[in-house]
Amino acid sequence: NKVILLGKRPHGKPQTSDFKFVEENKPKISKGEVLLKLSFVSVDPYLRGRMIDAKSYVPPFQLNEPITSGCVAEVVESKNERFKQGDFVAGSMDWKQYQTSTGEGLLKVDGKQAPLSTYLGVLGMTGLTAYFGLTEIGKPIKGETIVVSGAAGAVGSTVGQIAKMKGCRVIGIAGTDEKVAMLKSKFGYDGAINYNTTKDITKDIAAACPNGVDVYFDNVGGDISDGVHANLNRLGRIIVCGAISTYNNTSVPTGPRVESFLIKKSALMQGFIVSNYAARFPEGMKELSGWMKEGKLTYSETIVEGFNNIPQAFIGLFEGKNSGKMIVKI
Ligand code: NDP
Repeated sequence: NKVILLGKRPHGKPQTSDFKFVEENKPKISKGEVLLKLSFVSVDPYLRGRMIDAKSYVPPFQLNEPITSGCVAEVVESKNERFKQGDFVAGSMDWKQYQTSTGEGLLKVDGKQAPLSTYLGVLGMTGLTAYFGLTEIGKPIKGETIVVSGAAGAVGSTVGQIAKMKGCRVIGIAGTDEKVAMLKSKFGYDGAINYNTTKDITKDIAAACPNGVDVYFDNVGGDISDGVHANLNRLGRIIVCGAISTYNNTSVPTGPRVESFLIKKSALMQGFIVSNYAARFPEGMKELSGWMKEGKLTYSETIVEGFNNIPQAFIGLFEGKNSGKMIVKI
């Protein structure tokens, strides 16, 4: 039974040598427990934050302890009446091929309703992040212009489609020409900018948004966000979902101070954590899966194969290796 531990706290961009592979005996279950076999592992940018030894909204990973993330697993043995052999479940699990669980926090998922991996993406954490962040904080109004950074990723690709359903003009920012093309052809974006090839992101955003920016769904932070902020309209809303461009920084970044522009524009800037909306997840999942069934919401996944490649898939998030949700298939 292979297990992946946090071997070292990463300095800067995570390296495969920060992770430690160990072998342990396959666990045995007691009364009330199930034996789980990992099927799909979600690798997510927020795991980088948990590798730092600092207080946050979730406790840090401990050295020489398993990493955990959202996963889908098969129940291969059960002494718990809620689950039977052959069921599939989603929830937070260790990076272990096999593990036991009391069943607490596990959600039964049905591969006949939707592909199992989607419970980690568009119908799971990242879809819910897009849904609640945009509708609850962004509150987009028909006819408004919305800009999404990290637009071709798991959260961003969903945000753009929901904003289109709300009748907005949607502009995305992503890191390659292929992603820019996909935003327009697959996810219905009205325009898209490659931040790696632009000469002046502020000007390019101004050109793509002739009426200014009403809502900014920010997944990346840093220089890209400075460029969007400069184009914000009066009463604009900035949803601070993520700041992946800063997660590997080894010193505190500086940039334009935002206070005076927030005042001048009477703008709102609000951070959030998707779990703030945990009580409403069933509502969010119902809405997202309804849109999927109606053909209004699509998704993309980058699937990496093999348990041994989990660390590399995680590192790939910081190299833009994924389009849509990055998933490891075991
Ligand atoms: P993504 O699927 O968007 O994957 C990460 C993407 O970020 C990469 O593909 C890459 O795309 C882009 N990226 C990497 N490095 C940089 C950089 N230096 N500058 C700009 N872009 C970069 O991940 P998620 O959709 O899962 O997450 C997106 C963001 O949302 C993250 O910041 C994450 O932390 C946050 N998040 C927040 C949640 C919350 O509750 N607040 C919940 C879930 C996610 P490209 O090729 O375009 O550079």
